[in-house]
Amino acid sequence: MTSELRELYQTLILDHNRNPRNFGSLEDADRSADGFNPLCGDKIHLTLKLRGDVVEDVRFEGSGCAISTASASLMTQAVRNRPVAEVTRLFERFHRLVTSDAADPVNGQDLGKLAVFAGVRQFPVRVKCATLAWHTLKNALEGRSEPARTE
Ligand code: ZN
Repeated sequence: MTSELRELYQTLILDHNRNPRNFGSLEDADRSADGFNPLCGDKIHLTLKLRGDVVEDVRFEGSGCAISTASASLMTQAVRNRPVAEVTRLFERFHRLVTSDAADPVNGQDLGKLAVFAGVRQFPVRVKCATLAWHTLKNALEGRSEPARTE
């Protein structure tokens, strides 16, 4: 990872952990889901509102480490006002990035700020922290009721 990306990673994670965006819950949510990462103790509750097949609004609450909180915060920003099919593709690309080999060049194409999570590739345990919100979102979109677990 370039030092520029590493610096951006640290800045964004600190910022979004300290001041998470879209934190809270939607009273008139169409979907909701819970996620739990037992390895780290991260917990998340996600609520979202659909307009047709577009994610109109999404909020999260819970408690966890800086990476899980920052990842959930950045995810809510990234998926808002996007069609569900696009959100699914975004998750696939994000997942591919964070599970790729740490020695590979970062392929952050179309991921925007989410590309900074390439920083977790060096720390396999942290991959679960970074993907928890996404697994929970997927369950919410698919209407699954059992909590998302990262194991
Ligand atoms: Zn964590």
